[in-house]
Amino acid sequence: MKNSITFGGITVAPGEKVSQYVTVKGTDYKFPITIINGKEDGKTLLATAGIHGCEYPGIQAAIELSKEIDPAEVCGAVILMHCINISGFEERQIYVVPDDPERKNLNRLFPGSADGTLADKICDFISTEFVPRSDFHVDIHSGDMVEDLEACVICCAPKLSENNAYANEIAKCLSFKWRMNSGGRTECYNSSSIDRNIPSMLFERGGRGACPREEVDADKDDLYTVMKFMKILPGEVKPNPEQKFFKRHEWTEAGATGLCYMYAKAGDDIKEGQKIAEIKDMFGNLLEVINAKFDGHVVISTSTLAMKKGDDLITYGEIE
Ligand SMILES: [Zn+2]
Repeated sequence: MKNSITFGGITVAPGEKVSQYVTVKGTDYKFPITIINGKEDGKTLLATAGIHGCEYPGIQAAIELSKEIDPAEVCGAVILMHCINISGFEERQIYVVPDDPERKNLNRLFPGSADGTLADKICDFISTEFVPRSDFHVDIHSGDMVEDLEACVICCAPKLSENNAYANEIAKCLSFKWRMNSGGRTECYNSSSIDRNIPSMLFERGGRGACPREEVDADKDDLYTVMKFMKILPGEVKPNPEQKFFKRHEWTEAGATGLCYMYAKAGDDIKEGQKIAEIKDMFGNLLEVINAKFDGHVVISTSTLAMKKGDDLITYGEIE
């Protein structure tokens, strides 16, 4: 931008880049971010990683992009949040913020609240200080340490159809094989669209707590494509002819706490009525059977024997 920009109390001059810890308003909680202010005017991309602290490829991608992107080439601005849930990252704790007194999951809280516990305040800080002055928001996730996953891109919920259409237009140009629309409400990216009217998408790539080079590179390449689409960086983008769309999907949560036996995993095709998982108790007694609701393709599946009631168990979609 031709003027200085200020986000979260950090001011960046035109053609400059600042990488530092930002302090969440009303707390002493800090997480690492980079703000890149281009020399020329243009749009602003917000890319957030580490809402879940054990989803590593996106965290590594944000760190590497913070070094690579040259503000002299940027028209507009790029904000990279390297790892929002730094507490979960350091504790190697799935889903939740361990420093929060109620150990809340950020993605079930947005837009958050300045009057709540630490996790609510983190959500409110992002939602009020960063999202409203962005033009597009990409939230980068993986299957968590307890999940297998086949990479997919999820566009913000169709409740605001213009935002959803814009997200789909961008998503079609990304390297993901699978694309779908979200049905969610409280996730960081859905809140950006629903509460702040900023279009958004979520990357799901990687899982099992791994961080392979090819997944970090794929996250980076797709973020570069988003920046080119938005004309923040120079370059052409075109639709990915290999990509397939799920016209509906099923995000199944476990109905019981116990031992989880999977009969389908990420990458499998499944048939309606097919048994895809069972949950049993510590004595081997059956607690729950999960059958496929329609013919589909599995993109996320549980990789651990342990399962907790209400946690994600399996996600599959029906191919258009
Ligand atoms: Zn996640």
